Amino acid sequence: MKITPLGAAGGEVTGSCYSVQTKNARILVDCGLFQGGKKSEALNRPPLAPNRRLDAVILTHGHLDHTGRLPLLAKMGYDGPVYGTPATLDMTGLILRDSARLQVADNDRRNRRRMRAAQPLQQPLYTPDDAEAIISRLRPVPYHQPFAVAPGIKAVWADSGHMLGSASIQLLVEEDGRTKRVVFSGDLGPRSALILREYEPFQEADLVFLESTYGGRDHRDFRETVTEFVRIVQESVKSGGKILVPTFAVGRAQLITLLLAWMFRTGKAKPFPIFLDSPMAIEATNIYMRHKEIFDDQMTKFIGDRPLRADLKTMKTTATADESRAINDVAGACLVMAGAGMCNAGRIVHHLKANLWKPGTHVLIVGYQGHGSLGRQLVDGAKEVKIFGEPVAVKAKIHTLGGFSAHAGQTDLLHWFSQIAPSKPRVVLTHGEDDQRAALAKLLQKKFRLPSVSPAMGETIEL
Ligand SMILES: [Zn+2]
Repeated sequence: MKITPLGAAGGEVTGSCYSVQTKNARILVDCGLFQGGKKSEALNRPPLAPNRRLDAVILTHGHLDHTGRLPLLAKMGYDGPVYGTPATLDMTGLILRDSARLQVADNDRRNRRRMRAAQPLQQPLYTPDDAEAIISRLRPVPYHQPFAVAPGIKAVWADSGHMLGSASIQLLVEEDGRTKRVVFSGDLGPRSALILREYEPFQEADLVFLESTYGGRDHRDFRETVTEFVRIVQESVKSGGKILVPTFAVGRAQLITLLLAWMFRTGKAKPFPIFLDSPMAIEATNIYMRHKEIFDDQMTKFIGDRPLRADLKTMKTTATADESRAINDVAGACLVMAGAGMCNAGRIVHHLKANLWKPGTHVLIVGYQGHGSLGRQLVDGAKEVKIFGEPVAVKAKIHTLGGFSAHAGQTDLLHWFSQIAPSKPRVVLTHGEDDQRAALAKLLQKKFRLPSVSPAMGETIEL
């Protein structure tokens, strides 16, 4: 069997995709988009030549960097199945529709520039039709049961605790009368995360592909981060200003919503106005509420004791742009969650422009801020920023909370791996920058006496 990483390898963190080829079949594990800058985005081509056999695609989870190239498969004529857990498929639909819309909008904008420069116009990477074509191929699979995905290949999905529906996958591959086991960790979540169940490590593998996003460090402690969140919200409400929370639509937005419900229920704060100002986050929250069956015990009890609705009477969802603009006129303390998570686009930019110059405003940074983003400038303490070409003074208080990551830190990665280590698998590190992979490789050698390799993109591993 031959396994080739076609993304998220060789130091690249996005574009997750593996080709698994046996004598009898070929499947892809994930089919993600490359993101974050022109150099990465230039890699966004179909993962396979159109004439290659492809029996199935299987998904670890719905994030764009694991699913965003799927419409390219539809575009080149693939009409086979795409398997994933039910919640993953719901998230994949939401995320691919949004991605296709953005691809078209970006391309239109670039075409206007090309037109003015008398350059030839270009087609978008893919369109909503391509996204719908592949969404119609999504097929749900159960957790924990070996499921035949292609001739001679069964796959088992188990929780990975990273996002709603996320999973690690174990492949059972039969060739020449022998069964070999290959495990893909997928993205692993931190064990301390709320809402989702903890990851369930596999016990046996001949070969493991282990993510290494945070192979070199741990996050801030989750409980400490919650304590800090409570303190900041309490103080901000007292000061009467707006609290702006840039959030990704899926994951962080639901976590913050849950924490606020918990604060109101336990009397840590009196209910005050909250706005979920993101059509996509509203839809993602609806998907969460359709999949209560995969919540962890704590969350199940929390919503079983009393519906979240009862705690969140002061929460409004604002789907339209007019409703979003009306938030400007709200007097007194309120909290606004809006995208994009790095403040580089979306409704949050309008809220920042309208409020950053006011000393009573608080900005709560709860996620990673990429180099060069507006969010990163705020975290780095900029006194003035440019928004839509206009200088805006930063008088708001900027708070950075480090412990709400959806990714396992080093300690959890090692803990997950410790369960499978006794089966002495070959180890391949992917989905991490060079320093993170190197740090994790060193620890795997030291703790488990297992060497690991870090292949380049397109470098085939034979088993
Ligand atoms: Zn992910």
